[in-house]
Order: sequence, then C-alpha cells, then structure tokens
Amino acid sequence: MTTTLITGANKGIGFETARRLIAAGHTVYIGSRDPGRGRRAADALGARLVVLDVTDDASVAAAVREIEAEGGLDVLVNNAGIETRTADNGVPGAADVTPGMVRELFETNVFGVVRVTHAFLPLLRRSAAPVVVNVSSGLGSLAQMSDPGTPGYRYPGLEYPASKAAVNMITVQYAKAFPQMRINAADPGFTKTDLNGGTGTQTVEEGAEVIVRLAQLGPDGPTGGCFAADGPVPW
Ligand code: NDP
Repeated sequence: MTTTLITGANKGIGFETARRLIAAGHTVYIGSRDPGRGRRAADALGARLVVLDVTDDASVAAAVREIEAEGGLDVLVNNAGIETRTADNGVPGAADVTPGMVRELFETNVFGVVRVTHAFLPLLRRSAAPVVVNVSSGLGSLAQMSDPGTPGYRYPGLEYPASKAAVNMITVQYAKAFPQMRINAADPGFTKTDLNGGTGTQTVEEGAEVIVRLAQLGPDGPTGGCFAADGPVPW
C-alpha cells in the first residue's frame, strides 16, 4: 500500500494528480489550506483530507502528526504554488516587481517546498520506497529561458521563474542528500488552471501526466532530474 500526500490538491493539476494516483492504487491525502475546499475535493475523489498551509509551520507540523498517526508516508508531491497576477490577469514585468512580491511568492513556491519536505523527512525515511516530486516549471530552466526559440523566453515576470529555478536546485541537492529516495522536479507544461486565469493551452490531464509518472518511480528510477511529459528538461 502506497500512501501519498499532494499539497494544494483541492483543485487544478494537484486534484487531477490525486485522481490518477487513486486510480493507480495509492492512498492519497489531499493537502488543502482551506478545510471546506479540501473536504469537497477529498469527498469527490474518495481521498483522505489533511489541512495543510505550506506557508505555516504549525499547520505543516499538525499535518505530519496526523499522517504519522494514521500510518506514515511514502510519496510527497509538493504541488502547491502561486503566480503573481495583475488586475487584468497579466504578469507584472520585471521592472514592476518589488522585493515584497518576491518574498511573498517565495514563501509558498520555495520555502513551502522546503518547509513541507523537511517536516515529512522522518516519515519518508521510514518508507521502503520514498519518492518526492517537486512541481516546477519550464520557466525555471535557465537553458530554456535564455533561448529565444522557446515560448517561455517571452515570459516577462521575475519572481515566478526565479522560484521554480530555486525549486530545481533544491531538488538536485535533496536528491544528493537522500540517495535512497527518488526526488525529481516535474514540468507540467502550460496548463489551463486558475493559476493562469484559464489561459493555459493543455488540459489538467496532460499537465498531471509527468507528475503521476514520477510519483510512481521505483527504487531504480532516476533521481535529481527535471522532467516534462516528453523527457528531461534542460537545466
Ligand atoms: P491552481 O491555482 O489551480 O492550484 C494551486 C493549488 O495550490 C490550489 O489548491 C491552492 O489552494 C494551492 N495553494 C496555494 N497556496 C497554498 C498554500 N499556502 N498552502 C497550501 N496550498 C496552497 O494551479 P495549478 O494547478 O496550475 O498549479 C499547481 C502547480 O503547478 C504549481 O506549483 C504551479 O506553479 C505549477 N505549474 C503550473 C503550470 C500551469 O500552466 N498551470 C505550469 C507549470 C507549473 P487554494 O485553492 O486554497 O488557493
């Protein structure tokens, strides 16, 4: 029996990932910062609910205690994420981004990943086949963002790509520190969700594909990489 926690799984790519992993036989915890939204999502999928705000130490510690008491954790999917949006659903250009905006976004996208991973490490270390998937983005690839030939090159924002580049490096360093775990970053691709005001071009089924695959890696699978549905993402 594989037990999996997906943060920010009450909607979007996380919700679809939960649906797919339940179908694959996992016992899934929907992580949701809002109990009502989380309960609705968990009931819709036949999942467990754990209330978890990735920006809040006490909330994360309570989630660890709850999941530990119910048996432990094998797979952690750090999916919760935010993107700064302007009133007209655009992305603020680099010149308009303040340190406060960067700090706020990093609190969820970067510190949230470290907060949750660090807190769940004792449980993951007790698993026979521990797996961590950090949901990143092609926008966090230095190789892609400096190549005018890729669509991401024209993305004007600063803090979101920087946060995902940080997630990629965090993934590499955790993977080296814990060779007994499979720890990878996933690039879902530009997916139609609330994050981008529904402007994404892929379905959530397509976006969840690579996350679902990485969440099911066996002990011989790759670790310390960043993968999209069609293969490794260049750093
Ligand atoms: P959604 O906005 O649909 O979902 C984001 C989820 O994260 C929601 O469940 C949201 O909860 C949750 N969340 C936000 N902040 C917190 C927090 N502090 N604590 C716990 N949960 C939180 O976005 P997506 O499904 O698109 O995004 C999922 C991941 O995929 C993100 O990491 C995103 O960066 C990444 N990604 C998305 C792409 C896309 O094109 N959509 C492309 C590349 C990467 P709530 O409902 O309470 O707000």
